[in-house]
Amino acid sequence: DAPVAHPRRNPNIIITGTPGTGKTTHCEALAARIEAAAAGTAPEGDAALAELRHIAVNDVVRDRNCHDGWDAEYQSWLVDEDKLLDELEPDMTSERGGCIVDWHACDLFPASWVDLVVVLTADTESLYDRLALRKYPEAKMQENIDAEIMQVLLTEAHEAYEPEIVVELASNTPDDMEANVDRIVAWVTQWRKDQGA
Ligand code: ADP
Ligand code: MN
Repeated sequence: DAPVAHPRRNPNIIITGTPGTGKTTHCEALAARIEAAAAGTAPEGDAALAELRHIAVNDVVRDRNCHDGWDAEYQSWLVDEDKLLDELEPDMTSERGGCIVDWHACDLFPASWVDLVVVLTADTESLYDRLALRKYPEAKMQENIDAEIMQVLLTEAHEAYEPEIVVELASNTPDDMEANVDRIVAWVTQWRKDQGA
């Protein structure tokens, strides 16, 4: 049989992890490099990023009403995942692909939409300090620390996706972040090469 062509020309990447592990920081660093690549001002090594895009799922939930209200006690949206998936589907299933999805859960996304799942992790102490700065309510703080210690996101990723597309990256220091972003860029470049781009 002839090989089946991949449905996308750019990979979809989920950047996930417990709140405070650094998803948005990583995605914004990637977004800056994407912008430069799209403008043609990036170094040649970043050329593969030109068609990627950062999807801040929090903004989608808020701006496109993918929720059943705000939980004041827990300080978060009550997310309507079906509505959220409906909103993300056109971008994530497009021929362009290239969605970098920033979200604290991953197994809601159909495996056919996903090419790489990056699970960011952080030491308990770093995470505690970061969440304290956000003034999280005590119960939410403790729940997130516990989730990180129990590796909830890593388990969720491994249960939902093939092992070869799940990668765990430590996010404790700015050096970690820089290395992680470089690694993701290298992975995108290789993925596109493998698809014959
Ligand atoms: P998330 O989106 O996963 O909730 P953020 O990206 O908002 O996490 O990061 C939370 C806080 O932690 C921010 O103040 C950010 O600057 C800091 N931070 C995130 N990753 C790192 C890292 N690798 N090294 C140092 N600080 C980090
Ligand atoms: Mn975030």
